[in-house]
Amino acid sequence: MRANRGRDTKPELAVRRRLHELGYRFRVCYRIEGTTRSIDIAFPRHRVAVFVDGCFWHGCPEHYRPARRNSDFWDSKLRANRARDLDTDALLQAREWAIVRSWEHEDVDQVVRRVAGLLRSVAHR
Ligand SMILES: [Zn+2]
Repeated sequence: MRANRGRDTKPELAVRRRLHELGYRFRVCYRIEGTTRSIDIAFPRHRVAVFVDGCFWHGCPEHYRPARRNSDFWDSKLRANRARDLDTDALLQAREWAIVRSWEHEDVDQVVRRVAGLLRSVAHR
């Protein structure tokens, strides 16, 4: 799998930097206990998970363009990635985590607002 998938992508770093500037403290690439899955940006105490999904690898409806060559290969790869995302969400929901899934093309401040709003709403649960 190509190295640009996974942690420390530019859009993810931008979200992390902004959250940090605002005083939020979190864990990165946080392993979901008992699995091989991890959360891009995790607030374990609040059980809030943030993912910054790459437009290509996760099949963003605005930016994903089916490949013309080896399209069967890429289609099945994309389907597998999306199934994995859904499965990760289900895993986390079963453990009562709240989830923010964002696309790498989304405005950083909008993503941060969603995260901040969610953290506020779960602060007292
Ligand atoms: Zn996109």
